[in-house]
Amino acid sequence: MPNPERYDFALIGGGIMSATLGVMLKLANPKINLVMVERLDAVAQESSDAWNNAGTGHAALCELNYMPDSKDGSLPDPSKAIAINEQFQISRAFWAYCVEKGILKNPSSFIRTTPHMTFVRGAKDVDYLKRRFESLRTQPLFAGMKYSEDLGEIADWAPLLADGRPSTEPVAATWIEQGTDVDYGAITRQLVEWLVAKGMKLETGVEVKGLHQYPDNSWQLWLGSSSQRIVQADKVFVGAGGWALKLMQSAKLPEISGYGTFPVSGHFLRTDNPELVAQHLAKVYSQAAVGAPPMSVPHLDTRVVDGKTSLLFGPFAGINPKFLKKGSVLDLPKSVRPANLLPYISVALKNFSLLVYLIREVTKSRAKKFDSLREFVPKINESDWTYYEAGQRAQIIKPQGRLGVLQFGTEVISGGNASIAGLLGASPGASVSVAVMLDVLNKLDLEDVGIAVKEQVEGLNGGLNGSTSAAKRHLSRTAKILNLKA
Ligand SMILES: Cc1cc2nc3c(=O)[nH]c(=O)nc-3n(C[C@H](O)[C@H](O)[C@H](O)COP(=O)(O)OP(=O)(O)OC[C@H]3O[C@@H](n4cnc5c(N)ncnc54)[C@H](O)[C@@H]3O)c2cc1C
Repeated sequence: MPNPERYDFALIGGGIMSATLGVMLKLANPKINLVMVERLDAVAQESSDAWNNAGTGHAALCELNYMPDSKDGSLPDPSKAIAINEQFQISRAFWAYCVEKGILKNPSSFIRTTPHMTFVRGAKDVDYLKRRFESLRTQPLFAGMKYSEDLGEIADWAPLLADGRPSTEPVAATWIEQGTDVDYGAITRQLVEWLVAKGMKLETGVEVKGLHQYPDNSWQLWLGSSSQRIVQADKVFVGAGGWALKLMQSAKLPEISGYGTFPVSGHFLRTDNPELVAQHLAKVYSQAAVGAPPMSVPHLDTRVVDGKTSLLFGPFAGINPKFLKKGSVLDLPKSVRPANLLPYISVALKNFSLLVYLIREVTKSRAKKFDSLREFVPKINESDWTYYEAGQRAQIIKPQGRLGVLQFGTEVISGGNASIAGLLGASPGASVSVAVMLDVLNKLDLEDVGIAVKEQVEGLNGGLNGSTSAAKRHLSRTAKILNLKA
């Protein structure tokens, strides 16, 4: 058998995570020999595709789940919201650099200013939102946030929310202009295009079936099914989205033992009706229903994909055993091992209200789905809206003792003497892809690559909220390059 093709680094999966990591590796060492392997016919077809996610630049400007209410009615703690915002600013800095260097093209092909709003109803949530606003308004990265309980003012920000709503209902909203709508699929495709132009080998329509480590710590990647081919790589990133668990299990890493995946499907309602679209420019997030997972907070969003503007509402979550949208219904059963059986069972038992919520969501009638939309947009014409399936969110089941806990964040798992790392989890997702990939570099003992990238790219060190002048400078500098409102 001939020697396998050998690479310095293999990226498994053609989503935003692999693409971002690939660009960092190339920036640090233009001679690095990279391969990216994608099972579908093109990159960015799973969660990173624009219509498979909501395109929110998550910066905690509007999502209540990043800043839960305090228990005693005091001002809620802003630290998690600040941390998410700082991570988003790292992405923003990286994308700005990529635009300056021609790695990403015209910024309006992937990012646009879209104000972020939080909208709540009922006295209890109005009180919470007011205290949330008080807690955030003095934070440098949240400067310019406005608060209102006046339906007239809310109508100025988002007319569809107010039209037809009884003026007696207690409502409140916050509005901040610096929010964004992001096409993560466009970013992925442009980054990969640049990588290919710089010599990366891109294998599409090829699945990595298994991983095996050589004694020198490098890895064999088994590609394809009928005619199996092997390639060899010194280091590997498993950016396979929901299938990362399966590949890390195939690599027989002790570090993945006990982990599982809890898949949650997502559906949205979408309208392209130009009259409606013209009346709404915002991403409006509200309060999650009881038992709902944090990523299922309902939201009404402006989306721009391929230059065309639409509105979407959702998500409607559901249960589906696939770990990828184009995965298999056997994904969940096949992921069960003796080490993660108890974690799976314990998570199912401990999260009974979540299961009830998901079953309720799956069985929700069409009429009930439109009722949920009416809570946002009182006057709707159902025929304007179509229902579609977005991506699968593969949430992490993390071992805790012999049992398991459900985790809604992301986690980088590494092993094989720092020769392989994979990403589990789905939230806050693509918005923080750059910060997460810097973490991957550390886990792979590639701190020097991280340092080299940080030397080239201004603004990757984080911690911006600590200085009003630094935050202002960063927001206005990146806004200028990315063609955003400062
Ligand atoms: C409904 C929904 C809404 C979301 N909304 C937002 C949002 O508003 N903002 C935000 O920031 N994030 C959001 N996210 C999360 C975000 O989309 C993801 O975090 C991000 O796209 C993940 O990128 P990735 O590269 O890890 O995975 P993916 O984009 O899923 O890419 C993984 C790739 O690996 C490939 N692959 C898998 N297995 C193999 C294999 N064995 N061999 C070869 N290739 C393989 C897959 O085909 C796929 O192309 C949302 C996700 C969902 C599902």
